[in-house]
Amino acid sequence: MEWISCSLCGDYEAKRLHQEDNYVMVRCSSCGFVYQNPRPSPQELREAYQTYLPEGNIEIEAWGKMMEPVFRKGADLIEQYIPRGRILDVGAGYGFFLALMQARGWKVTGVEVSPTGVRYGRDRWELPILLQPWENTSFQEGEFGVVTAFYAMEHLSDPLAFLKEVHRILRPEGMILLRYPHTTPIKDILSLLRIKNHLYHLPFHLSDFSPQTMQRALTKAGFQAIKTFVGNFTNPPDLAGKVAGILFGNMAEVIHRLSRGKILLPGVSKTTIARKVES
Ligand SMILES: [Zn+2]
Repeated sequence: MEWISCSLCGDYEAKRLHQEDNYVMVRCSSCGFVYQNPRPSPQELREAYQTYLPEGNIEIEAWGKMMEPVFRKGADLIEQYIPRGRILDVGAGYGFFLALMQARGWKVTGVEVSPTGVRYGRDRWELPILLQPWENTSFQEGEFGVVTAFYAMEHLSDPLAFLKEVHRILRPEGMILLRYPHTTPIKDILSLLRIKNHLYHLPFHLSDFSPQTMQRALTKAGFQAIKTFVGNFTNPPDLAGKVAGILFGNMAEVIHRLSRGKILLPGVSKTTIARKVES
């Protein structure tokens, strides 16, 4: 384990927020970023990811089914703004999203650290997914029209450095789409109700972005036209997940729609998009 400062603002001061087993999430006193501290070393994480994704075909298919509407909505959203071209998906997993984009006529590339995910995507759809962390990639400046990361930001040790690199490899007017869990508001409620849970999924999730901290990070990385959307809750089967789903799942979407986007309830997964605007 290693002790760190806030990876968004560099401040060392933070308040202890929630604990799962021996792992602790803290909130930065300066910028409000929620992150795991101390956290596993890069070496420990690399080892853990060797067996992170399930290998059974039934589990993989079930996962693909569960994520299908999320990926479809993501694809629709992208195509509202960006003409078909090159797209990079970081944390591509088994490749379900890239397979969808490839079928829609995009030229796709993936990056993924789980060998299981890479093998599946290559075997099933012949997807070009690189088995390496994003830090080891060397893409050209302005190479992609779109970069996506579904449930990847919370796994990155330096999310701000990642956003800056995405900004570099996007072409002018290019778009980043990020999908991430926003778990802290649910954790606050479940802890009041004294319902035990592991919703932070520690030690794997190194941080818990809110739309506000995500906006701050994207702005720091040079992005503009930042927009956040509420998404479906992906119904985990345990009690904590059910309570969270009922409290925040459908209701959040209904209220968001009724208020014409003005009221964004906390506690569900969020999708944030932003653009690279030439200065
Ligand atoms: Zn901070």
